[in-house]
Amino acid sequence: MASARSEMQNPANDTPACPQAMDCDVLVIGGGPAGSTASALLARRGWRVVMLEKDAHPRFHIGESLLPMNLPIFERLGVLDQVRDIGVYKAGADFPVQDEADTTHVFRFNRAIDPKFDHAFQVRRADLDLLLFRNAQAAGVDARQQVKVERVDFVDGRPRVAHARDADGGALEVRFRYLVDASGRDTFLGSKLKLKRKSQAHQSAAIFSHFTGVVRRDGEDAGNITVDRFEHGWYWLIPLPDGVMSVGAVCFPEYLKTRRGDTEAFLMQTLRLAPTVWKRMGQAERVAPVHVTGNYSYSCTRMAGPGWVMAGDAYAFIDPVFSSGVYLGMNSAEHAVDVVDGALREPAREAALQRAMDTRLRRGLKHFSWFIHRFTTPVMQRLFAAPRNDFQLEQAVISMLAGDVFDNRKVLRRLRLFRLVYAANAIAIAPSAVRGWLRRRRQVGESFAGDTLQDGNP
Ligand SMILES: Cc1cc2nc3c(=O)[nH]c(=O)nc-3n(C[C@H](O)[C@H](O)[C@H](O)COP(=O)(O)OP(=O)(O)OC[C@H]3O[C@@H](n4cnc5c(N)ncnc54)[C@H](O)[C@@H]3O)c2cc1C
Repeated sequence: MASARSEMQNPANDTPACPQAMDCDVLVIGGGPAGSTASALLARRGWRVVMLEKDAHPRFHIGESLLPMNLPIFERLGVLDQVRDIGVYKAGADFPVQDEADTTHVFRFNRAIDPKFDHAFQVRRADLDLLLFRNAQAAGVDARQQVKVERVDFVDGRPRVAHARDADGGALEVRFRYLVDASGRDTFLGSKLKLKRKSQAHQSAAIFSHFTGVVRRDGEDAGNITVDRFEHGWYWLIPLPDGVMSVGAVCFPEYLKTRRGDTEAFLMQTLRLAPTVWKRMGQAERVAPVHVTGNYSYSCTRMAGPGWVMAGDAYAFIDPVFSSGVYLGMNSAEHAVDVVDGALREPAREAALQRAMDTRLRRGLKHFSWFIHRFTTPVMQRLFAAPRNDFQLEQAVISMLAGDVFDNRKVLRRLRLFRLVYAANAIAIAPSAVRGWLRRRRQVGESFAGDTLQDGNP
């Protein structure tokens, strides 16, 4: 374990306290899924790890729908049974089709091209993040809560010392050999090193809460996520334990500017505009606060450098329409572990390890991003409403929805083919449909001027 040296204040003369100081091999900033995964796996490889989390678990966090590809990571962490205990079984994803027959197209994970993991779970993040945090502690990590890292000092181009503060104002100084930034959308290093770039193409905000009394799907689809587009963006329904449903909408900025009044009224007004969700909410009762958060996609220009690596949202955030965030965070944390472990054992390999991580993660992100940026277009609506499985293209989309976007060549080849099909459809149907869609978005922007939504990110 990390050696700690404590020099506390002298109450007699009231002089400021010297910071408590400690040494470790690896400092991890942030105790969300990415930080707890990286910490636990590094500790198991024998490194002395300190993880600092500014909040106190259990705490609310958005990001409740997991992907099948999360499961092997839970297995490697040794927590799969515990996740099953706190989760709702998720067989697939539902995409309602707005036609006269009220069809819902269900993409079940057992139809993926390589369905090793044919389901996932929906979880309350307060429960999942606590479980993962405790798992890291059990692995030997010195994991502390309510300690915020305020500053990191670099020496000869490498980060070496972190200055943190606990909830009582006590200062803590941590000296380390390697830094893992898993600070989520706070993007600790991305902001400090000015590496963060917001996506101009993808700016939106989300408004959401928890409800009871929302109608669930029948049978094996009862735990599915429902994702649907509506005029101003898209919404989700995520079944959680105890009959609770997470309901939220991600909206275009022009629409958000139309907000008047309180957030609850705005959430209900927004959901009313989405007929497929509203008809399931006749008996709904809100059981949690309404949250509003900016949903701007971004990525950093680098994910690693001398002595440091990022994991999860600290590096990039993409729109959550395909529930990819927790998986991408934990997946990148596993890669970060290989980088840190390899670099500490053989410093000469550091750059090569970082390059390998960068190449692989960018490839996976690219596939998700391509679908996300087109999800609300008329062409994609048409392809999702009547999916065809020629050349296993529908199955490839299901594999993407399961998170299988990194190594499976069969899937990646078909996803590339899907792009050609998309382009052909765009040429065939798009001009008038796209014009109408753009016109509608412009009209919303022109007809209202008004408040900007405040970021109430929990
Ligand atoms: C509207 C919305 C819906 C989403 N839906 C889904 C979904 O259905 N499924 C899904 O998989 N993902 C979803 N996501 C994405 C998901 O929330 C994130 O991708 C995921 O939480 C990333 O995990 P992380 O560990 O990188 O970051 P986080 O979970 O944010 O953890 C980072 C931690 O670092 C701590 N921290 C930050 N700065 C400091 C500091 N200076 N010192 C100490 N601690 C610090 C924070 O308190 C936090 O606990 C959604 C996101 C949004 C905005």
